[in-house]
Amino acid sequence: MIRHQIRLAAAAAACLVLAACAGPTDMEPPDVDVPTPLPSGIDFSPEGGGAPADDSCDPLASYNPGTTTAAQALAGLDDQEQISIGISQSTNLMGYRDPETNALAGFDIDIATAIAKSILGDDANIRWVPMTSGERVEAVNGDRVDMVVRTMTMNCERWGEVEFSAEYYHAGQRLLVPKTSGIESLADLTAEQQVCTGESSTSVSNIAAVNAEVQPVTVPDFNDCLVLLQQGTVDAVAIDDTILAGMAAQDPTLHVVGDAFSQEPYGIAFQKDNTDLARYVNGALAALIADGTWQAAYDKWLKGPLGVAGAAPAPKYRD
Ligand code: GLU
Repeated sequence: MIRHQIRLAAAAAACLVLAACAGPTDMEPPDVDVPTPLPSGIDFSPEGGGAPADDSCDPLASYNPGTTTAAQALAGLDDQEQISIGISQSTNLMGYRDPETNALAGFDIDIATAIAKSILGDDANIRWVPMTSGERVEAVNGDRVDMVVRTMTMNCERWGEVEFSAEYYHAGQRLLVPKTSGIESLADLTAEQQVCTGESSTSVSNIAAVNAEVQPVTVPDFNDCLVLLQQGTVDAVAIDDTILAGMAAQDPTLHVVGDAFSQEPYGIAFQKDNTDLARYVNGALAALIADGTWQAAYDKWLKGPLGVAGAAPAPKYRD
């Protein structure tokens, strides 16, 4: 279909250039073979799916807020005048550019904004830093940002690299397929089929754990998986249900199938050892859950697309 349209466009362009396409006999399109465009960094045989999950810690246990003050949190920022927050600007419903206002919008953006206001006040100066999943850890540890609020799963491997807040959302991974495909779950996919996901995301190993046969395909930004599915380059997309709901909302010919095949507790990430900031943010998270801000954000962005009345996770502290 795409190739056909490209051929027609090429024929039209050739007519414009030559200005001599007079008779119907001259209308045969030139036989050019235009390859389907692919996102940069696509990997058709990624490694790293087979490692067993690291269960050496309790990934949900963050730091008790105790009596940590906003002044202590402020001292943990790189710049006392503004807060830099790593986000996605291309994940529909979670962190994306509203096409009408060009402003950032979504569930993660609402949570991040409420946290920033708690630290810096209502006129908080927020510097938004868009990034891919694979850039998150280096962004906090390399002082590019003060925190990352970007659909980031808390797990033991990542706890070794960053500090996390308490869980602020509980997601799970599922599968997105064309409605006409007949595919009902990740387990249905065969060795001849390809499933797209984000490089450096937890889904690479989750896919291998559920279906060792299917061929994973990774891209640096999992949002590119949507186009690959629409092109027919891949058969399915596997990633968090929140993200897939956003893709399904963009393309009504697709739908999310199968039960969740993983647990994806989202945490806000901070530089390793910046525990005062983590403690303060945990207090701020508890407050925005208690005052209805969390529920309002959920109801605005996720309740309809996910089809369930969500509730905030109960925080868990290690000390
Ligand atoms: N939540 C998963 C992760 O943090 C997948 C989505 C993402 O990459 O942001 O790896």
